[in-house]
Amino acid sequence: MAKGKILKGIGGFYYVLDEKMKVHECKAAGRFRKDGIIPLPGDNVIFVEEQDSYGFIEQIEERKNLLTRPRVANVDMVAIVVSAGKPNIDSMLCDKLLVSIIKADIEPLMIINKIDTVDEPQIDKIKREYDKVCDTICVSAKTKQGLDALKLKLHNKCTCFAGQSAAGKSTLLNALFAELNLQTGGMSKKTARGKHTTRHAELLLPKDFVGTAVDTPGFTFFDNTDVLPEDLYKYYPDIETYSHGCKYSNCLHEVEPKCSVKDALQEGLINQNRYNRYLTLLKEIQEKRQRQYD
Ligand code: ZN
Repeated sequence: MAKGKILKGIGGFYYVLDEKMKVHECKAAGRFRKDGIIPLPGDNVIFVEEQDSYGFIEQIEERKNLLTRPRVANVDMVAIVVSAGKPNIDSMLCDKLLVSIIKADIEPLMIINKIDTVDEPQIDKIKREYDKVCDTICVSAKTKQGLDALKLKLHNKCTCFAGQSAAGKSTLLNALFAELNLQTGGMSKKTARGKHTTRHAELLLPKDFVGTAVDTPGFTFFDNTDVLPEDLYKYYPDIETYSHGCKYSNCLHEVEPKCSVKDALQEGLINQNRYNRYLTLLKEIQEKRQRQYD
C-alpha cells in the first residue's frame, strides 16, 4: 500500500502522484463504482502498486472541500490572475469570485500580472482595492519578476488558478508548471496518448518547488445565487471587520442609521470602489431573490 494524490482521471484510469513524486497509473477498486463514489483530481488516496501493470486505488481520504466546476477535491487556495495593464481588470467579476472563494472557506490570492507593462501608480491602485481582502502578489510572467515570491506562496498547496482571458494565466502556468506528461515516466503510452482533454480538471506539477495547481477554464465557475443579502458583507473581509459596531444586527450597511461600516467608509478605512461594488452586488442578489418570489 502507498499514499498518493490523484492528478487526473481519464477513461477509467487515474494518475496518482506518490510521496516520491512518481506518477502511477491506477484503476479504482470495484466497490467505488458500486457505492457511487467517483475518485477526483486532488483526492488523497491509498493505492496498491502492481509490477508491470496498473495499480488499484483502495481508499479515498475524506475530502476537505470539493469544487464542482471544475470537479476538484482538496483545494487549498484559489488564485485570481488579473492584468495590471491590458485587458483592464474586471473588478466586479473579481469581487464576485472572491465572495465565492471566501464563502467556500478557501484562501484567496490575487496575482497581478503584466506589471512590466504599466507604471507603479496603476499597480498600486489595484493593490489598494484588494490588500485588505487577501494577499496580493505582483508578477510578470514575461520578465519572471515576482515569480520567486509567488512560488513561496504556492509551496505545499493545491492552488486553483482562475483568471480573465488574456490576463496571462497560461503564460504564468507555463512558467511555473511542467506538463504532466513530462513527469510520467512509468505511465503506459497507450492510455496517455491522444486522450488529453481540457474538459477534465488536471493537477499540474511545479518545475522547481513542491505543490500542485489546477487550471480553471473561464472565470465564473462559482455562482452566488445562494448568498443571502444579509450575509453578503460577511464575505467582504475589508467590510466585515468594521461591521461589529452597527446599531442593527441585520444591518446591510446601505441606508441604515448608526452604521459603523459607513463610518469607516467616511474615515477612508474602507475602499470606496469596493464598497460601491458591494452595493451593486447586494442589489443584484436582492433583485434575483425578488424574482424568485414573484
Ligand atoms: Zn452597518
